[in-house]
Amino acid sequence: MSAIEAQDLTRVFHVGDEEVRALDGLTVSLERGRLAAVIGPSGSGKSTLMALLGGLDTPSSGSISVYDQELNGMTPPDLAAYRRSTVGFVFQDFFLLSHLTAIENVEVPLKLAQVSRTERRERANELIELVGLGHRGDHRPQQLSGGERQRVAIARALANRPKLLLADEPTGNLDEKTGAAVTEILLNLNKDQDITVVLVTHNPELANQTEVQFRLGGGKLQQKTVASEELIVPPVIEPEIDMAQDQEPVEITQSTSVKVVILETGFCQAKATDIIHEVRPDLGLFDIPGILNDLPFIVLDEVEREKAEELKNRFEDADCVVELVSTSELK
Ligand code: ADP
Ligand code: MG
Repeated sequence: MSAIEAQDLTRVFHVGDEEVRALDGLTVSLERGRLAAVIGPSGSGKSTLMALLGGLDTPSSGSISVYDQELNGMTPPDLAAYRRSTVGFVFQDFFLLSHLTAIENVEVPLKLAQVSRTERRERANELIELVGLGHRGDHRPQQLSGGERQRVAIARALANRPKLLLADEPTGNLDEKTGAAVTEILLNLNKDQDITVVLVTHNPELANQTEVQFRLGGGKLQQKTVASEELIVPPVIEPEIDMAQDQEPVEITQSTSVKVVILETGFCQAKATDIIHEVRPDLGLFDIPGILNDLPFIVLDEVEREKAEELKNRFEDADCVVELVSTSELK
């Protein structure tokens, strides 16, 4: 049974008068439960492929089917539902929300899937344990090392029990040892939880541990290698040694100007819009492009702290996930 069937994918970007063919007739397929590496030089289309597989972007032409779901022709709400039900993402830059604890970060997608509070907490705790961070659940991202942050991101990606985990250079910002420990988690996930994992990596050793390798070049599949089981060498894992940085979380003080960040969701958006209109019709909105699974942000323009607190309460009453972020952090 296949996890992925992608046929003749092209993705053309227009930059000024120029056409960039990020993918140029790429065909790939992958069986369910496999661990695959995507390798190839910078600019060869790896991230573009991941975005298409994850329903974060749509192809210029070609077709994609993931776990028997045809992505072609899906409307944006269909794609959002597909992402929420089928896919987990892990990125190089972690993309954790800085004012939430590790556990709360893992809870965000569960909240968006309208999982009850008790069940959410239970599942988040379970996942934080699974990635070996049971002792750090109450820490905020600034109090965690890079490797620990990426573990939180992995736990968050698993929250809604994805069938396909897409990891785009997940160890790209980590030193070798830390990267190896994070890799071990991904390898074990694939083994123990029966999740199909697609991993973009520049690390040849890591790629050699995977069952399938897709080598991209110029937006095309250059080679697909399927290793025989015996050839897959289990990784030698050294314990993670980088210590949590001793950084204090940024406190929002009276004098800090803040932005209210609302995780825009189907069920909160309408209510949020009403509240915004009511309390501050002059308030500006802008979007930060989708950085989490399915979480575009609404960011309200800078407001005084008191107003921000009041807004936060109102939004939370309307079941929105909200955080207050000091302006300096939101560059
Ligand atoms: P990789 O992940 O293998 O480094 P990418 O998939 O990010 O490669 O990019 C493939 C090609 O497409 C590159 O030439 C890149 O500059 C171009 N590209 C990717 N995204 C965009 C975009 N949003 N707009 C214009 N060009 C893009
Ligand atoms: Mg890339």
